[in-house]
Amino acid sequence: MKKQRKVPAVLGGRAVFSSPLPITTPTISASQSMLRAIGRVVNSRQLTNGNEVRKFEKAIERYLGVRHAIALGSCTSGLMLILRVLGLRGEVILPSFTFHATAHAIIWNGLKPVFVDCDPETYNINPREAEKAITPKTAAIMAVNIFGNSADIEALGKIARKHGLKLIFDSAHAFGTKYQGKNAGGFGTAESFSLSPTKLLTAGEGGIVTTNDDELAAKIKMGRNYGDPGSYDPEFSGLSSRMGELNAILGMFSLNTLEKNVKRRNRAANLYRKHLSNIPGLSFQKINEGDRSSYKDLSILVDRSVFGLSRDQIYTALLAENIIVKKYFYPPVHRIRAFRNCQNRHKLPVTEKISDNSLSLPLFSHIDDESIETVCQAIGDIYACRELIGQQNI
Ligand SMILES: *Cc1c(COP(=O)(O)O)cnc(C)c1O
Repeated sequence: MKKQRKVPAVLGGRAVFSSPLPITTPTISASQSMLRAIGRVVNSRQLTNGNEVRKFEKAIERYLGVRHAIALGSCTSGLMLILRVLGLRGEVILPSFTFHATAHAIIWNGLKPVFVDCDPETYNINPREAEKAITPKTAAIMAVNIFGNSADIEALGKIARKHGLKLIFDSAHAFGTKYQGKNAGGFGTAESFSLSPTKLLTAGEGGIVTTNDDELAAKIKMGRNYGDPGSYDPEFSGLSSRMGELNAILGMFSLNTLEKNVKRRNRAANLYRKHLSNIPGLSFQKINEGDRSSYKDLSILVDRSVFGLSRDQIYTALLAENIIVKKYFYPPVHRIRAFRNCQNRHKLPVTEKISDNSLSLPLFSHIDDESIETVCQAIGDIYACRELIGQQNI
């Protein structure tokens, strides 16, 4: 790096990218073999409930090393069904620093979300805060592997066992995540993964519930099909949330490149970390020794008093450079409209601080080093011009 300093676009300079650099984009392309597989399914006219979904599920089971992978229409419906088939009542403890789908699944089951604070370094649910929030009404803890960084599974497991609670993971970000060398997927009662196009492994849309519990798996399979065991006599009110055969084909091709893509993202994230480490006032999510993040996202945390500009000012300045960045997750879930009326028992100062000051940078599995260097250079230029930018009304 160490190129010459450039006038930031927000001060009238030319944008560093002539067309927008997306924050993410799926790494998938239509090979001849993919097109043949799609053609074969279309011509078979078996567009749902066929072999492709089952083949995909088996491949996921092998990759993750888990007894059951059940393909669904989305991760959110997976979370909804897990809570439903467990027959939970009362309260579910969850982090507020997450995507709001985690909380929707709770509300749709008539359960009460109880938001607790996250860890200031890993951004994941803080196990001590989770334990403090337990009441006689608590039924479960729903943890999230934020940005692909594994939650503190051991501590959460201990608390869940001690208090007789279910432990469920929103693993939307966690294809490719490892906790102490072990793949996400086999932890807690069940996990739910997302295959929407912003995630590492994509099937266009879709979700995967994983569990080692045979009975739970059988019920989730019923649940994705209205609760119908196949007798046209549903045992309970399920959802209509099957994965289509064509989606399973996309998912299978995506799975073939998952391991390579996780490695590419780790490399890309390390390059970002290296180039940004000498800019004052920026810090990164901590990945614990022995864990592997999928790097679904890479975020920087801005210390305004050191950097000299707020997260929001940096956000505006980067958009002016045609660098698409996102304020994940802002506002935190307890402040969005759908959940503002939930009575919030706990103060969430760490969540608010991270939510107010973090910014996710462009990261996708095929991003090239030069783009990363250009983004880092632009952030360096913005830092160099922080005083002038601070005087702008942005
Ligand atoms: C994307 C996402 C979801 C929702 O996944 P869908 O497959 O779109 O339902 C849930 N939780 C988190 C943390 C997510 O990022």
